[in-house]
Amino acid sequence: GAVGVAPAGADSGRPAYRDARLPTEARVGDLLSRMTLDEKLGQMTQAERGALAPQQEDLAKYGIGSVLSGGGSAPATNTPAAWADMYDSFQRTALGTRLGIPMIYGADAVHGHNNVKGATVFPHHIGLGAARDARLTERIGRTTAEEMAGTGVDWNFAPCLCVARNDRWGRTYESYGETPQLPTVLGAAEIEGLQHRLGDPGVLATAKHYVGDGGTEGGDDQGDTRISEKELRATHLPPFRKAVREGVGSVMVSFSSWNGQKLHGHKYLISDVLKKELRFKGFVVSDWAGIDQLDGEEGFTGEEVRTAVNAGIDMVMVPNDYKKFLTLLREEVDAGRIPMSRVDDANRRILAQKFRLGLFERPFTDRSRTDDVGSGEHRALARQAVRASQTLLKNDDGVLPLKRKSKIFVAGKNADDIGNQSGGWTITWQGQSGDITPGTTILEGMRERAKDVTYDRNGEGIDKSYDVAVAVVGEKPYAEFEGDRPGAMGLDDEDLAALKRLKSSGVPVAVVLVSGRPLDIADQLPGWDALLASWLPGTEGNGVSDVLFGAYRPTGKLPVSWMRDAAQQPVNVGDGKRPLFPYGYGLTYRR
Ligand code: BGC
Repeated sequence: GAVGVAPAGADSGRPAYRDARLPTEARVGDLLSRMTLDEKLGQMTQAERGALAPQQEDLAKYGIGSVLSGGGSAPATNTPAAWADMYDSFQRTALGTRLGIPMIYGADAVHGHNNVKGATVFPHHIGLGAARDARLTERIGRTTAEEMAGTGVDWNFAPCLCVARNDRWGRTYESYGETPQLPTVLGAAEIEGLQHRLGDPGVLATAKHYVGDGGTEGGDDQGDTRISEKELRATHLPPFRKAVREGVGSVMVSFSSWNGQKLHGHKYLISDVLKKELRFKGFVVSDWAGIDQLDGEEGFTGEEVRTAVNAGIDMVMVPNDYKKFLTLLREEVDAGRIPMSRVDDANRRILAQKFRLGLFERPFTDRSRTDDVGSGEHRALARQAVRASQTLLKNDDGVLPLKRKSKIFVAGKNADDIGNQSGGWTITWQGQSGDITPGTTILEGMRERAKDVTYDRNGEGIDKSYDVAVAVVGEKPYAEFEGDRPGAMGLDDEDLAALKRLKSSGVPVAVVLVSGRPLDIADQLPGWDALLASWLPGTEGNGVSDVLFGAYRPTGKLPVSWMRDAAQQPVNVGDGKRPLFPYGYGLTYRR
């Protein structure tokens, strides 16, 4: 929020915590001294908007400190203004409590403010890892924060700092790359842009998922990362170390385990390593119902609440049964099984971030930014990012760049589909094919550049009269475990059929691969004249055509090693395996 309510100026009756001139620690101390135990427990609770919406008064009744849109859950009408109204209405309820402590609202704006219809959707991290441009990534963070500010949402569950070591993992595209360097450098840049030192439009960033989420056996989502402490520290910890130095406000714990022990109960990694050794001063949030997984049974028990909080989790993303959570948390504290010092520490951390964000002074949405969600300026930045992420892997006989005057045939399920080119975490959790939000498809971008463009999704109608065929193929949207690919990792039957038609015409074929990770294509590749990895570009598909037509030269470099075949997974730089294309590979056009 950014619009003031509390009148400024001296008021002798005004409590110290309301005095913005005082240092944050003093305000936190004063507020904490006034809070009841139940008010403190409320601050440690995060509830899903969908669970609260029908009885919003519960927010005040239970003093709940935070609300979230989990997995893209949006207000009934999904517009920026409706989000702002929803946010402000929750906030009004929170401010009506005894001490008027504002709530903080979290959402996954992982490639732009992607849950909001009409927002600018940037390339997913893997594309930004190919672009390798920290300055650009910082500007994307800043722009995302501006769009968030226009809807009230003040806390972003991003960036994912995962180091994707096995491309079978359904979250590979949320990774900047397979080496610790990329998430370290680019993650810090994103945090810098998002938090903007918590000035205007700063939002709270989240370094997630702590720690080792990208290193699980077999690339299983929420699986077990079986590596030595030395390797955990060398490969997966560096991006978090840097994020803490960057002043990241929160850290989200991973669903995964380390050598069989769930991170959600890992006191050593959360309290000793993150909070003591790395000196993390922000707060630690659980993942969605993450505490439920501690005992392997459905739902959560008092014991799981205790294990998680005592391990060092400060706020629990419950997300639905917040009443039960508060009852169990209270029981554990009353019985002395969770020490008061732990409750106070959690509250100090959470409240400090709320003060730091300026929530007490500016609790409501900055409506002056609402109309800028999805603005032309923001989309221009996204288009630039799309260009920068294009990675040219093959280009025989100079098929690319395409010529404006050529007779061009376009095919493939990802050529004319905003949903497919945006991937998961777009409007909904899993994402969806089709016209889900405004943008420019890759085909539309091509039609802006060339006159003679014929399109058939299946490649029907191709004949010798065309100069070139462009197949835009790859993956359809998915998120998290739904996208795990433990088996084959090749193209689907629809893509293979379309490609077969194009090839049978004898016309040169350029393939544009829209996917969240490398696919198993080695046996197809000899039949393709060119291959451009476009990753998941988001709403601005004309950034792809800018490169296809040579208005910009390809500069992307592979952020992950490209497997020779699926059986080769995991394949990473320095492991002695021989990938199809190595980490860092990427061609460009001859001048
Ligand atoms: C994901 C997190 C996300 C959370 C809230 C979980 O399923 O693992 O990355 O922040 O949902 O949507």
